[in-house]
Amino acid sequence: MYQCQLCAQTIAARTPMVKLTVERRVYQHPQRDRAHPVIDRSRPTGRRQRKRRDDPGGTGLQIVRTLHVCPAYASGHTPTI
Ligand SMILES: [Zn+2]
Repeated sequence: MYQCQLCAQTIAARTPMVKLTVERRVYQHPQRDRAHPVIDRSRPTGRRQRKRRDDPGGTGLQIVRTLHVCPAYASGHTPTI
């Protein structure tokens, strides 16, 4: 049982809740040195060495605000970005 944040009605138990993304923003991820652990597969098993690979960073979308809504209101709504 929950209250829909769009229609403000109390929704019956066992009805699925939808997390609706209503606002996103463009986010610039910074470059990170030695961020991802990887296993060197060129060596035979037992002698494999763990290495760390750089993360190049980049641009992506980041969720700013979500609403908990009933399935009836979730369809047909698209975020601004
Ligand atoms: Zn609703």
